[in-house]
Amino acid sequence: MEKDIKDLKVLIKPSELKDRIKTLADEINSNYNLDEPLTLICVLRGAVMFFSELSKYLKMPVKMEFVSLSSYGDAQKSSGKIKSFNLNLPNMHDENVLIVEDIVDTGLTLDFLIKFIKMKCSAKDVKLAVLFDKKCARKYDVIPDFSAFEIDDKFIVGFGLDYCGYYRNLDYIGYFE
Ligand code: 5GP
Repeated sequence: MEKDIKDLKVLIKPSELKDRIKTLADEINSNYNLDEPLTLICVLRGAVMFFSELSKYLKMPVKMEFVSLSSYGDAQKSSGKIKSFNLNLPNMHDENVLIVEDIVDTGLTLDFLIKFIKMKCSAKDVKLAVLFDKKCARKYDVIPDFSAFEIDDKFIVGFGLDYCGYYRNLDYIGYFE
C-alpha cells in the first residue's frame, strides 16, 4: 500500500455520519407506506456500514438481500468495467425494493444494477439510497432517490469504503491529501 493511515484527514466525523443517516431514514420512512414491506438490497462490500446503520431506523417490515459488485478493484478510480461476484436475488414480484449503496461516482455500477433488478426481479418499485453522491464525476444517468451527502471528486475511505481492501472498519470518513 502506497498510503498510510496517518496521512488520512477526517472529512466526516462519526457523530455527523450517524445523525445524517438517521434523518435520511426519517425521509425514507415518510416516502413509503409503513404498512407495506420493503426489501433492502445491500451492495457489498462498501455499503455494509451504511446499510446496517440505516436499516435500524426504518419503520416498515424490512427484508434484507445482498449482492456483490465492484468497478474499482484496488485502484482509486473506476475501471470502467463491472465485476459481479454475486447477483443471486429472489423473485421480488410486486415488492418495494430499495438498493442501498455506499457511493455513486460515474454511475456505472448502479446503472447496471438498477437495470438488472428491473429486468430480472419484477419488483413493484425500485429506488436507490446512497451515502455519498459524487455528482461531478457522473457519466451514467443515475439519480439517487435518497442521498446523505454530496461530495467533491475526491477519493474517500472509511465507514465501509476501502483503500486496497483496508479501512472499511473506520467509524469516520477520511481522505488522503
Ligand atoms: P461507479 O460505478 O459509480 O463509478 O463507482 C461505484 C463504486 O466505486 C462504489 O460502489 C465504490 O465501491 C467505488 N468508489 C467510488 N468512489 C469511491 C471513493 O471515493 N472511495 C472508495 N473507497 N470507493 C469509491
